[in-house]
Amino acid sequence: MNDTIVAVSTALGVGAISIVRLSGEDAISIVNKMFKEKDLTKVKSHTISYGHIYDNDEIIDEVLVSVMKSPKTFTTQDVVEINCHGGIIATNKTLELCLKNGARLAEPGEFTKRAFLNGRIDLVESEAVMDIIESKSEEAHQLGISGLKGNISALIENFRTNLKNLLSSIEVNIDYPEYYDIEVVTIEKLKQELAKMQQDLKELIDLSVSSSHIKNGIKTVIVGKPNVGKSSILNRLLEEEKAIVTDIAGTTRDIVEGEIYLDGLLLNMIDTAGIRNTNDLVEKLGVTKSFQMINEADLVIVVLNSSEPLTKEDEEILEKTKSKPRIIVLNKSDLPKKLVLKNLDNVIETTTLNTKGIEPLKAKIKELFNLEKIKSKDYTYLSNTRQITLAKKAYQNLLDAQKSLLENNPIDMIEIDLKECFDNLGEIIGITYSDEVIDNLFANFCVGK
Ligand code: GDP
Repeated sequence: MNDTIVAVSTALGVGAISIVRLSGEDAISIVNKMFKEKDLTKVKSHTISYGHIYDNDEIIDEVLVSVMKSPKTFTTQDVVEINCHGGIIATNKTLELCLKNGARLAEPGEFTKRAFLNGRIDLVESEAVMDIIESKSEEAHQLGISGLKGNISALIENFRTNLKNLLSSIEVNIDYPEYYDIEVVTIEKLKQELAKMQQDLKELIDLSVSSSHIKNGIKTVIVGKPNVGKSSILNRLLEEEKAIVTDIAGTTRDIVEGEIYLDGLLLNMIDTAGIRNTNDLVEKLGVTKSFQMINEADLVIVVLNSSEPLTKEDEEILEKTKSKPRIIVLNKSDLPKKLVLKNLDNVIETTTLNTKGIEPLKAKIKELFNLEKIKSKDYTYLSNTRQITLAKKAYQNLLDAQKSLLENNPIDMIEIDLKECFDNLGEIIGITYSDEVIDNLFANFCVGK
């Protein structure tokens, strides 16, 4: 892992500056061979030198070179960054010269991987680097920053410390079972501690799932019979004319998509074909697709026309969506009301005749996805499926341990569950990991990061 890697760390293309970055044992000596004005092996760490990159006697570019010596660098190895004038030719030539002088082209994410493997950052922090790069909204960015600051890692470490303390008191019991008094006290304490830990972990998982919607967006599907106002609602939300609005039933045959931001919450909106019994083949295909989209959605918005009584088709749509997170919109509330719904949750009224008429829908979406709660906290959440899956495993371990306690199983059985819980939490921050997981993770990074 000490070999020297190189990559262009800025986006390839024409720009003011491009950065060619190297990390490894020979980083400084390699660049020194291409840089004549100064002996870079003699400069102080964390200084910038002005000069030129040469290919033999030919000047390739005028540059600034930052030399950062191990261990206080991103990868903990010697790191050199060459600030070239932006532009593909000069940057690529500089990169080629580095390769010619002994560096190897870095794999995607290899700089960050080295930072992780050298203990500079943990796995959650590595993933946070990626989150920051990919964030599309202010909230997603905050999540990444929180991860990078180590807040999430500290929280997980805290769980692990509590578990470690519990495990050591259990070990005292196993090693000195004659102290009967201690065991009684410990089991009571265990019950309390496990209940508290389970509650805390559950809250973390629940809010993390909601916050992952902040990062990835909410796949939102609008369904309803033709002509109830689905496209008009989508247009109001998008505030542009993306879906075609017409009063001929069945016009939205295909799927119309758009992205909207609701106070930082990204909704990937999909307007489906009007659902109704039909003989038109194209329309039929659209209807089948509508039901497929419902299955894949994070949120379903069912639109009904409040100025008409409920029809069989409406009932069918309500039945098909009942197990999904859903909002039932009674649209055309400006017209006399003829529709009555009983005992259904999340029902709101809208009209698309003016911009204000859609506000109840926006408010309901924010409420359903805990947006206010997530924003009021400090963004200390698990940020991806890998982390959440491991936290869920750890949670299950806690449930198993509690069950064993209730059933008066031998204490060493409980110990096994708690140790597994400890390991699963450790895997979140990368204390234990498999090479495969690490390779997959960093392969998703861009080259040069
Ligand atoms: P879709 O087939 O469900 O996508 O429905 P559209 O959005 O195409 O709307 C069908 C018709 O209903 C159009 O003539 C719209 O102008 C009208 N419409 C949509 N929303 C409202 C509303 O809130 N009030 C009234 N009165 N008409 C509406």
